[in-house]
Amino acid sequence: MSNTIFSLTYGDKGSFQDGPVPAEIRVPLAGHDTKTVKKKAEVAPGTLIADHKNAKTGNMHAGIAGVVTEVTADCIVIAAQEPSAEAAPASVDAVDVSALSGDALTTALKALGVDVRPLIKKCDTLIINGLNPEPGITFAEALLGQYKSTLEAGLALLKKLSPAGKMVLACAEGSAASLSGCTNAPIKPVYPNSLTEMVIAKVSGSEKSSGYRVLPLHTLFNLGLVAETGLPLTKTVVSVQGVSYLVTIGTPASAVLQHAGHAIADGDSIIIGGPMRGLATADLLRGVDKDTEGLFLIKKGTFAPVTNHQCISCGECVLHCPSRIMPNLISRYVEFNDYDSCVKESIDACMECGLCAFYCPARRPMMQLIRLGKHQIALKEAQVSACALQGEEGAA
Ligand code: SF4
Ligand code: SF4
Repeated sequence: MSNTIFSLTYGDKGSFQDGPVPAEIRVPLAGHDTKTVKKKAEVAPGTLIADHKNAKTGNMHAGIAGVVTEVTADCIVIAAQEPSAEAAPASVDAVDVSALSGDALTTALKALGVDVRPLIKKCDTLIINGLNPEPGITFAEALLGQYKSTLEAGLALLKKLSPAGKMVLACAEGSAASLSGCTNAPIKPVYPNSLTEMVIAKVSGSEKSSGYRVLPLHTLFNLGLVAETGLPLTKTVVSVQGVSYLVTIGTPASAVLQHAGHAIADGDSIIIGGPMRGLATADLLRGVDKDTEGLFLIKKGTFAPVTNHQCISCGECVLHCPSRIMPNLISRYVEFNDYDSCVKESIDACMECGLCAFYCPARRPMMQLIRLGKHQIALKEAQVSACALQGEEGAA
């Protein structure tokens, strides 16, 4: 494997650039069932726009002043506009989250847009993943350098919430980065060493360890932004073709790319996330989410398109699979709806690194097939559980 292509170190490139000032934001929702604004409502930065009934899922807020122009199940669209003098929405007061703890802190963070679940998961050791998540995503060194105080503010809250007895900072070998109260665990900064399963294996020294959890640096930064300001989470850091920007949540992907100087033409692909694991989107207006780490524009003709060509049994995917499973077989089983065989071939051990797809000379959609297989198996298991439950209720 070429260390140049898969390197995860880029150096501290300094403070993040400002993202675009959006004319419109499309705030993505994920099961936020209670919309707290209606069409034509005026909003200020930080106005609550959607609540999630789950007590651990962060609410969504407006990142700009404007007027709501559309409310759907999946997003709320806000057009930028100065508030009218007579009906200006109230500005949002900061919450002193540092003074809170326990349930009061959890509730306040949820209300401020933080997804609390990853912060409170049961574990003995919590590893903060200080590596860049994928090649081309470049913010980790700057976060650990320029934005260390923000990370520390988030860490102070995290220590109140996490049951972990020990915290570890997984960082690139040779890095001088540190976070208070965390033991450093140097890891060779080469993809896929940044993936959760690999980080746990490297830190624990075993592929079968338990009691470990991994928290992305991106998540800690979002928490730190809320901890520092006491205001709702309305911005996050996004690496755009290797340059990192502070972007208002909901800013359309096309606006971010164009702001970063990348013109989009017919036939280009927009990737949300990283180049190895990200998802292509056909929606140029799709809004940046809280957990969007990267945005990439793949120009037409850069790579041969992914196709449904047959496997030519070259073995490249098997050779490069870090989970040591058989992606060639699994992808074929998925194509033939043979999910029992997928399970026998340990599809669940796939960490979705994307290396099989990267190396496949037939350009087969390996990751998509494996993700489809996992999804179908999960659906089948859910149906079996539901039937078993109905059977038990019928017998009672
Ligand atoms: S994505 Fe492919 S290479 Fe990566 S772990 Fe899964 S099967 Fe293996
Ligand atoms: S790399 Fe592609 S063509 Fe080669 S064995 Fe794997 S799936 Fe088949």
